[in-house]
Amino acid sequence: MERCSKCSTSAEEILETGFVGCEKCYELPTVKQAVEKMFNGKKHKASK
Ligand SMILES: [Zn+2]
Repeated sequence: MERCSKCSTSAEEILETGFVGCEKCYELPTVKQAVEKMFNGKKHKASK
């Protein structure tokens, strides 16, 4: 399981809660991917 090297929050926890522990959490590959997906999804649903 991936863990942030700075705040030791696990990638799983971040995906579950939607909250990152610190800015370095975004550098975890799993989190990065999820964030990119989220942004892509928002772009498609821009009508709201
Ligand atoms: Zn972190």
